[in-house]
Amino acid sequence: MRWGLIGASTIAAEHVIGAIRTSGGHIASVLSADPDRARSYAAQHGIDQGVTDLDAALDGVDAVYISTTNEKHLPQAMAAIDAGKHVLCEKPLAMTVADAITMVTAAQEKGVTFGTNHHLRNAGTHLAIRELIASDRIGKVLSMRVFHAVHLPPHLQGWRIDNPGAGGGVIPDITVHDADTVRFHLGEDPLDVVAMKTASGLGQGVEDSAMSVWSMPSGAMIHTHESFTHRFAGSGVEVHGTEGSIVARNVMTQQPVGEITLRFDGGEQAVEYSDHSLYARAVGLFSKACAGDGRPSADGVDGVKSLAVAAAVTKAAKTGQRTAVDYGGL
Ligand code: NDP
Repeated sequence: MRWGLIGASTIAAEHVIGAIRTSGGHIASVLSADPDRARSYAAQHGIDQGVTDLDAALDGVDAVYISTTNEKHLPQAMAAIDAGKHVLCEKPLAMTVADAITMVTAAQEKGVTFGTNHHLRNAGTHLAIRELIASDRIGKVLSMRVFHAVHLPPHLQGWRIDNPGAGGGVIPDITVHDADTVRFHLGEDPLDVVAMKTASGLGQGVEDSAMSVWSMPSGAMIHTHESFTHRFAGSGVEVHGTEGSIVARNVMTQQPVGEITLRFDGGEQAVEYSDHSLYARAVGLFSKACAGDGRPSADGVDGVKSLAVAAAVTKAAKTGQRTAVDYGGL
């Protein structure tokens, strides 16, 4: 499969270029707004050509990976879909739920594959956790806690901490991942949320920390904590059921690492998991879906729904009101 990279980004450089090549893909072009950067990024990463024109980036490719800043995803995805290209798009899909639905609907109508790069549901740890829940090892789920307060490394701070127009802030950046992770594990969509947010050291005009509580159709309660400013907190999830609890540490990460413990009446055990690359699995499943085999690990509807939850958290934190999640009819 021939790929175009839309955006000369850090995430592509650190993870997705390698994942595309692992899946057997060839990267034919990279698009940057800056001609020098387009050329140097292409040279540095062995990409055929660096371009500044979107049509040139789309020419002769089967699929695009969009990893520009968030406000650019909509127009770039629409152009790619219009040209008949499959689209793997970074989260959050767009600045609003309505825009994300526009993208996903256009892809459906055009008959191209659309994936959202929610990497966590591809982790061996999260696949093992979901299997424990689905096979009833902890009984009925009562609650889930997602602790995802990290320290944003300096090279990723930029627009994330000071540019709301580019989609900065911890809620669009991390709460969307937590929404996807909760939906993945529990197989249901949050109904409504209460939330608070703050700027605790890094955020300038955007929040760098948020906490929220979500209700689920099953009656389970969800508590999430996201931050850019916590150096020593460590990440993880806990899922508590009537017959047991799953406690997973260091699993909200880009690496195939972490520890999972299953606690039950009278004991506890360490849970084994596969240590494959999260991004290679995501790109591999997306590539197979483009060839008509299966579906992406997270599709467009998953991307819309995770964004809808994050949007509700933003609104609830702003208004102080319990806020229904609006999935736009999906
Ligand atoms: P970056 O800041 O690295 O890249 C975003 C844009 O900034 C690029 O498209 C590029 O513009 C420009 N840029 C990047 N580095 C430089 C530089 N050194 N000098 C000048 N311009 C630069 O963002 P990320 O890679 O962190 O995030 C991109 C997207 O990916 C976002 O939507 C984010 O939410 C998502 N993301 C997803 C992750 C996941 O695991 N699913 C993890 C991290 C990010 P141009 O293309 O015009 O050159």
